Amino acid sequence: MRHTVAFSRVTSDDIDGAVREAVRLSGGLEHLISASSRVLVKPNLWGAQPSGTGSTTDTRVTEAVTRLVLEHGPRRVVIGEGCGAGYDGFSHSTEEAFRVSGLGEVAERLGVELRNLNSDSYSEVVIPDALVMDRVRIAKTALESDVIISVPVLKTHIRTHVTLSLKNMKGVIPGEEKRKTHRLGLDQAIADLNRVVCPHFVVLDAIMGMQGLWSYPDDCMPVGLIGAGVNAPAVDIAGAALMGIDPNLVLHLRYVAKRQGMVADIRSVHLVGEPIDAHQRRFKTGFDVFSERFPGVTVIRGESACTGCTSELVTALRYLDEAGYSPELDGLHVVIGEVEHVDPAPRLALLGKCTRNHADLGVHAAGCPPREEEVIRVLCEACGADVVKVLDARDRARKQLWESTRKELLS
Ligand code: SF4
Repeated sequence: MRHTVAFSRVTSDDIDGAVREAVRLSGGLEHLISASSRVLVKPNLWGAQPSGTGSTTDTRVTEAVTRLVLEHGPRRVVIGEGCGAGYDGFSHSTEEAFRVSGLGEVAERLGVELRNLNSDSYSEVVIPDALVMDRVRIAKTALESDVIISVPVLKTHIRTHVTLSLKNMKGVIPGEEKRKTHRLGLDQAIADLNRVVCPHFVVLDAIMGMQGLWSYPDDCMPVGLIGAGVNAPAVDIAGAALMGIDPNLVLHLRYVAKRQGMVADIRSVHLVGEPIDAHQRRFKTGFDVFSERFPGVTVIRGESACTGCTSELVTALRYLDEAGYSPELDGLHVVIGEVEHVDPAPRLALLGKCTRNHADLGVHAAGCPPREEEVIRVLCEACGADVVKVLDARDRARKQLWESTRKELLS
């Protein structure tokens, strides 16, 4: 079965009209929302950013979605978000993000509650058949909602390639759990989380997207569309394709799609409304950003190279760099994904199950994806770095982050 995803074009700044059109074309909200429904509208407000830059969901889109929800007369509507790990612990807060984005005024105007999910109460939920995270604490507001509408913005992400409706659900877990997902393996943890809190409907803000390192205004990507659909992975597949990214290389998308009997491929989505081909842009991916940051490292990528190995590679390189080994990284060759042939190189690391046929050519990290420590170990071995020193640098960085968070929480 192909799930429907609709796109509409925003013309003359009529965001409300475009949201209504995309929602209508994708089947509407009538079958989801009744008079007894408790609805959570969940934008992506990862930090205190002005609306309309592509960094966070455009507040006008969240407003249009909330208006539409209210017209269906539900029992309760909450706009909820908990900013990224570190927020509500350091000097920033989700409340500040609400204010800066203008969402505070919107909630007041519409008469709905705006809730900081980082200060909500939580319940621990067991995740059946988990990939890496068998339990997680989730905000009660999300657990007690009958309908969750994810309203992400169209963006790339250095570790997961894309951040769309599935990754947007990280906002319903507390900061400590958000950090845990990075430790466990971000893509797998996102897939696990969506097993217990998957959105019931998605409205994708693709008016202004953001790529690469998210530096405003250089990385803004105007697209001018609104997307919508009932099936979250299907909307994310379409969103990835709109950014010129192969959805099948986004590991969390591949996992969630597979679990739902789908393939993370644009051909498995029934697209209606505005044709996305006419609006497709080539967004800079995590790979592109990574090459800019580590120009001395050559990455040989096979077609199957996905975010699992990419994210572990990005993390490991960061810790090698922090431990003072950036000169040693020059001349390092890393292979990820399935490749037919690998030229021998003096400093060669091969990551993951995909490269196992060439394992004897260099230092190989097994796994799919390999564990963080294993990737650090093989990179250290390939470039002559001291693994203990690098793991120390990693632990120090994590401890520092944890201590500042704790201090702030206690103050
Ligand atoms: S081995 Fe790495 S690149 Fe290959 S599928 Fe697994 S995570 Fe992706």
